[in-house]
Amino acid sequence: MEVASKRLEENAPGKFYVTDACNGCGLCFSIALQNFMYSNDSSYYYIYQQPIDEREEADIREAMSVCPMDCIKDDGV
Ligand code: SF4
Repeated sequence: MEVASKRLEENAPGKFYVTDACNGCGLCFSIALQNFMYSNDSSYYYIYQQPIDEREEADIREAMSVCPMDCIKDDGV
């Protein structure tokens, strides 16, 4: 049975978040530097800041499209 991935607690409150399926590759951070941050041991990344404008939102959506683990989510609210 597939185990549902969980929203990481470090994510900033808001619609975008990263789940515990993250493998720490850092691709999202290289695309959306303002919005992602890495954990203390760099083993995973999380949403540090929700987008403040359309450009940042577009960067996060680009990161979502290339994330190898498909673990960047949008709760749709
Ligand atoms: S691109 Fe995806 S798997 Fe890679 S660090 Fe970012 S959230 Fe994690």
